[in-house]
Amino acid sequence: MSSVYCFVLCCVFIFSYNFTILQFYNSNIFFHKMILQTPYKRVIVLALDGVGRFFTEVHTPTLDTFFASGASSLQAKAIVPTDSAQNWGSILHGVLPEKHGLKNGDVEAGVPYDENSPYPSIYKLLADSSKDIKLASYVAWEAINTGIIELSVKADLYAPLTHESIFWRWWLRFKHNWLKDSVYDYTVISRLIDYIRNPENKDVELLFVHLTDVDEHGHGHGYGSQPYLNQIKIMDSQIATILETLEEVGWKDDSLIIMTTDHGGIGTRHGGNSDQEVNVFLAVNGAGIEPNSTIKSEVTNMDCAAIILKGLGKEIPEWFDAKLPVEFSSKSTDISTS
Ligand SMILES: [Zn+2]
Ligand SMILES: [Zn+2]
Repeated sequence: MSSVYCFVLCCVFIFSYNFTILQFYNSNIFFHKMILQTPYKRVIVLALDGVGRFFTEVHTPTLDTFFASGASSLQAKAIVPTDSAQNWGSILHGVLPEKHGLKNGDVEAGVPYDENSPYPSIYKLLADSSKDIKLASYVAWEAINTGIIELSVKADLYAPLTHESIFWRWWLRFKHNWLKDSVYDYTVISRLIDYIRNPENKDVELLFVHLTDVDEHGHGHGYGSQPYLNQIKIMDSQIATILETLEEVGWKDDSLIIMTTDHGGIGTRHGGNSDQEVNVFLAVNGAGIEPNSTIKSEVTNMDCAAIILKGLGKEIPEWFDAKLPVEFSSKSTDISTS
């Protein structure tokens, strides 16, 4: 009888011990808390197409400094299939591709996003939540503005192939198609600098900046090839220009800045689920975020959608597949009181 009693006691002990360990693990004690001081005056997304994690193979002082100034993950994953429309779609709609349904062929053919979709973009969510909100999207790939963000959304939109003169568009296409040397980003950045420096735009709340030349060099020369890696170094200096301009106009202090990519690549392609295609990164800078902190929880680039809304002090819809990384989920404080 006493041995049965002993056995039951042991079972109770083992069960409660395991339960406590499990509770401890789930309690986020293992994760470094990073307080997002929401709402930020604005959220800026630096959306770097086709970079994967290849920047770790070259000297990128700007990215290194950006990573060291905030929270980052070098374990983040892209959404499969690792194509641009699917991933920028998930990043801007907060749901998986089977829900937003975006595909490269459609958006490049100019098919607009369904205005009645149950999965609107964060642009539409923000525009619906506040009539006067100022939104902007400066992209090297015009399909983001014409196929991923709903056409009904009022925003300051720019893309080289829709806004530049006919001569400049011809030159961009010639460089891209014949010389395999894309310079779309150069044009985007010069227009972006003008936009940021214009005092009329200081109240912009969401600014999405998309650069594509690294991906173009991946398709033209191979992901990981020397021309591709050289373009990453050029991109690094271009990001330095953007960040210096944000600093110059005082936007760096009250903005949440997110940097991510849609996918990497293998050979001259992407779309599959190899490590080279799926491995990406996520980095977040802003007031309240400890420098040099690591996002240790499992994250995808899609989670940016949740970080953007949280950063602007908005509710994250319950139908979102995007999740706020657990490190950011602690109670936030308000810096908008001044
Ligand atoms: Zn892409
Ligand atoms: Zn691509």
